[in-house]
Amino acid sequence: MATAELTVTERQFEHAARELVQASHWIHSRGWAPATSSNFSCRLDAERCAITVSGKDKGRLSETDIMRVDMAGRPLDAAQPSAETLLHTQLYRREPGIGAILHTHSTHAVLVSMHTQEDCLIVSGLELLKALAGINSHEASLRIPIFDNTQHIAALATAVDEAMQRDGTGHAYLIRGHGLYTWGADMNEARRHLETIEFLLEYTWRSAQRA
Ligand SMILES: [Zn+2]
Repeated sequence: MATAELTVTERQFEHAARELVQASHWIHSRGWAPATSSNFSCRLDAERCAITVSGKDKGRLSETDIMRVDMAGRPLDAAQPSAETLLHTQLYRREPGIGAILHTHSTHAVLVSMHTQEDCLIVSGLELLKALAGINSHEASLRIPIFDNTQHIAALATAVDEAMQRDGTGHAYLIRGHGLYTWGADMNEARRHLETIEFLLEYTWRSAQRA
């Protein structure tokens, strides 16, 4: 019984690692994860997730660069998890329906977050909004909160959690001068959300240049 259980668990971890490596190479190829930035994760169950280790080139990531942490961000394997692990576990703890999280350091996420004075970005009127789960019309408005950057990740995770408690979980948030967090029910949905929001950020930046 214990052996069979272990096998299922191991298989689940291998599947998550494969999905994370594929997503990582795709994200790097799009230019959204420069240098060794960005981090990605998948939920394994209610207690654990698989996450990228700290400081690797995301274009060359391999399955040995994925490790397990518990939902308090404590390592379950002998490796150093991403410095931003607590921002992943905060989302998994808050929202049981989240199955995968992608965090990028794209140029447009940095530009838009640095040049928006308000504490959120509102995007509306675009057909591509319908690629986001739960949005059925271009007339919807997407609210993306913007948090100030800090090296105190635990404090940032608390601020994000308090904002979500107040305003709802939403689809994504920005960290000013830093990057984007988005998520989905599974890796496919998280990838679709990432591609959509990166498009919306590029649109926002380029249309502001024409004004
Ligand atoms: Zn980051």
